[in-house]
Amino acid sequence: MLATMLMDLDHLLAKPIFDPMRCSVGYHPLHSFYVIPVYVLLLLLPATQIVAVGVLFHLVTDTVDCFWNFSHCHECYVNSRLYALRNGVRKLLGRKVDD
Ligand SMILES: [Zn+2]
Repeated sequence: MLATMLMDLDHLLAKPIFDPMRCSVGYHPLHSFYVIPVYVLLLLLPATQIVAVGVLFHLVTDTVDCFWNFSHCHECYVNSRLYALRNGVRKLLGRKVDD
């Protein structure tokens, strides 16, 4: 489980490396929305289940951290990829999208 914290090494690819108001979910490569289905598929293989649980739990805690930051910074929320994902899902479902 501790090894799943290694997925935060992708923060080293960002500039700046640390931005306290940036939401890592959807931003960094190992936190991207495209890799999440891969982590879910890893749940199906007994050999990778524990790692999959760890990385998915990591993403849940990062998401909670993002929403904590958003409660202090609405602009951070509107500029985040979580907000873009939310609007994309709402559009897909035919619901009103906030602009
Ligand atoms: Zn992370």
